[in-house]
Amino acid sequence: MEFRDIQKQYLHNKERIDSSIQNVLNTGIFIGGSPVKKIEDELKEFVDRKFCITCANGTDALSIALKAMNIQKGDAVFVPDFTFFASGEVVSGINATPIFVDVDERTFNLDCDKLLEAILKIKNEGKLVPKLIIAVDLFGLPADYVKIEKIAEEFNMLVLEDAAQGFGGSIGNRKTCSFGDIAITSFFPAKPLGCYGDGGAIFTDNAEYARFINSYKAQGKGDHKYDNIRIGVNSRLDSIQAAILSVKLDIFEWEFIRVNEVNNKYSSELSRYVVTPLVLNEFKSSFAQYTIQLSSEQERNQLKNYLKSKKIPTMVYYPKTMQDQIAFDPLYTRNLNSTSERLTKNCLSLPIHPYMEHSEIELVIQEIVNFKIKIGTFK
Ligand SMILES: *Cc1c(COP(=O)(O)O)cnc(C)c1O
Repeated sequence: MEFRDIQKQYLHNKERIDSSIQNVLNTGIFIGGSPVKKIEDELKEFVDRKFCITCANGTDALSIALKAMNIQKGDAVFVPDFTFFASGEVVSGINATPIFVDVDERTFNLDCDKLLEAILKIKNEGKLVPKLIIAVDLFGLPADYVKIEKIAEEFNMLVLEDAAQGFGGSIGNRKTCSFGDIAITSFFPAKPLGCYGDGGAIFTDNAEYARFINSYKAQGKGDHKYDNIRIGVNSRLDSIQAAILSVKLDIFEWEFIRVNEVNNKYSSELSRYVVTPLVLNEFKSSFAQYTIQLSSEQERNQLKNYLKSKKIPTMVYYPKTMQDQIAFDPLYTRNLNSTSERLTKNCLSLPIHPYMEHSEIELVIQEIVNFKIKIGTFK
């Protein structure tokens, strides 16, 4: 059994993917060209945004967004304490100050009460300027943008949606990548919409941001490629990856339904034994990860080893909070006794992907039940 079976996805769609790659080979245009324009148009239509600009990866997408928003030294940027390193790395990368905010124990996303507290604290101290909230759609579930956008408005702050794991999710009729002033996603192979290498995209409705991003990602170009009006970077999605993404986007809705079926089956069978992911009424998750919680670190590690002995792969996302990453030293503030810290100890992510066989889902469930009965600690 694979944790996320990208090879099976390829075999299911081999003919279409092979021919999309072959088409690019036939044109001999490997950077830019029509496949990149095509996927940008398709993506912005899919998420319902005015502008989509592709780039080299999700981390670049975040960094470029921060540049567009003119975030700089002296600015406080609020980031969840429980996320992938890149969400905070980019903030330190431009010498702004990341303020790590604790997350909600059931959604794994920003705890909005604690976000409000953290903003008020920074504002009252008066040393840093609260400028931006980076909200992460962790494990595929959109953050609570209704509350986050309201808080941002109250304090005249910007919102950046890190939907690297969240592509395809939604709140009501709004899809991920449509929230915040700018949103980004990643096409790393194991993300909900993945290519066969690195890739990323930036979304916005703001024409000025879009103009800046188009220039900055292309060596700060002006009207002409060899007319450079600012210092920029080189960050491109290549044509073969763009062509692959067009095929993958076409099958995405089907995959989204399948992966949600796996979630439904897991949750209906496992919720008696472990804490299963919570997806509230209006929300839909793309289940980049299906993450359960055990009663302790010891039980989590025992279950991980037990499943490994049954050849069922699992992952610990994430074994460290952001504030415990020594790269961020010295931190401006620390959260004590946090939910994030507890999650690093009791979370376990199970295999999930759209091509999981029924028998595989049943096996994972059965072995977790066996484990729980064997060691006898019910939820
Ligand atoms: C994967 C990921 C990124 C970075 O994306 P890359 O394409 O790997 O650079 C950023 N934020 C989150 C939450 C991620 O999961």
